[in-house]
Amino acid sequence: MANKNNTPVCGLCGKKKKLIKTDCCNNWICDDEDKYVIFSYAKNSCSRNHRRFTLCGSHNTEGHSGKWQSCKKCFDSFKHELEMYVWYGTNEYNFEVLENPPSYKPTYCAKCDNVIVLSDGGYSTLCRIYRCENCPISEKEREEIISQYKGGIKHKQLN
Ligand SMILES: [Zn+2]
Ligand SMILES: [Zn+2]
Ligand SMILES: [Zn+2]
Ligand SMILES: [Zn+2]
Repeated sequence: MANKNNTPVCGLCGKKKKLIKTDCCNNWICDDEDKYVIFSYAKNSCSRNHRRFTLCGSHNTEGHSGKWQSCKKCFDSFKHELEMYVWYGTNEYNFEVLENPPSYKPTYCAKCDNVIVLSDGGYSTLCRIYRCENCPISEKEREEIISQYKGGIKHKQLN
């Protein structure tokens, strides 16, 4: 994204000051990681958002080869949460989005059956069981879920 004078602008937010090129895809982006406060979970840093919350960024961080759009390793690492794969590949922190994102089944809370939007966070997960923020897993349930899960594994051949 460059304007008429070819002045570089951040491809995500359009700012012109203090830019760097991304390692992963060589696009101009705000050099703003210093704005991020550790553990604040704020999403105010363009470069951090791109590096941490896109397939392009994580593909590069993980040292995969080829294009992220067709990367099997990226796909495999999200296979259990395809919803997050699609979010990583299509959210507003991308310069280029996945053209044909795979379809996925929504995630439901195991207790109240409400749909959980994984990218919004706030849910809990244990042994592939998801709970929305209104239904936290109690200590007692935690033990039950774990023992059921272990029981399930015993019936499968692990390699
Ligand atoms: Zn920016
Ligand atoms: Zn990138
Ligand atoms: Zn990859
Ligand atoms: Zn719930």
